[in-house]
Amino acid sequence: MNEPLESDGPRVFRRGKVWLVGAGPGDPELLTVRAHRLVARAEVLAYDELVPDAILNLAPPRAERIAVGRRAGGCRHHEARIHPLVIVRAVEGREVVRLKGGDPFIFGRGGEEAEELAAAHVPFEVVPGISAALAAAATSHIPLTYRELVSSVTFVTAHSESASAGLSQALPSRGTTVLYMGLGRLEGTLEDLIAGGQSPGMPAAVVSNAGREGERTVIATLATLAAEARRVGIEPPAVVIVGEVVARAVASPSRSEVAPAAPGAASRTR
Ligand code: SAH
Repeated sequence: MNEPLESDGPRVFRRGKVWLVGAGPGDPELLTVRAHRLVARAEVLAYDELVPDAILNLAPPRAERIAVGRRAGGCRHHEARIHPLVIVRAVEGREVVRLKGGDPFIFGRGGEEAEELAAAHVPFEVVPGISAALAAAATSHIPLTYRELVSSVTFVTAHSESASAGLSQALPSRGTTVLYMGLGRLEGTLEDLIAGGQSPGMPAAVVSNAGREGERTVIATLATLAAEARRVGIEPPAVVIVGEVVARAVASPSRSEVAPAAPGAASRTR
């Protein structure tokens, strides 16, 4: 609770603190060690809907839990506002773990929340998390950059018509693009990219539930991806990866294959 630090003189109150913590894509093993430690000792846990129970269950049973409404497909709160209880608890002197899907500073409104905390004189710290683009690249084995082929990656959001219409202008002509929040109007977005000059044959992938249960990847082209994703019933949350690197997705050899002889092995055998 809010206890004065000194009994004489001016009454000084100790503020609590808010930790803006990236929870990664959903697999508890993809939390940072710091995020794991903070959740495991949390007094107050405020979390987005995208954060699964497997992570929330790491918190002590006595921790106060505050659900902050966020839909899987995007953000429900269009006005940037941190949950009022988060500020109330911090002002009362408590430590609040504000868990956000992926990384707090990538389409996570972490910037707006940090501004609000600063305006309310609440100390805060930011803990990075594995963002959906990085989890999707890892699970689909699509390298986001590739030496001498692709040297830039752009993260964009395509959740609204106007955002997607301006996409092609915003993108470098060569490079990888990762679209967040794009599943809702995938068809229109991909058409906009083609209308903006991208080749219809450009490799493109949709990766849903990356780094969490139900992971799926569909690889096609800009022209065919939307129909293919619909045909197999891809569900949010999902990111779309567009670019030459998609053609570089590498299947991992199975561990039970007979291993080829190591280079030089023959010369060592007698
Ligand atoms: N701060 C988050 C992004 C929040 S916006 C991050 O850094 O990952 C929400 C969007 O992120 C979703 O619409 C979807 O495009 C993407 N997303 C979140 N989790 C995902 C997951 N596990 N797999 C694929 N995409 C995901």
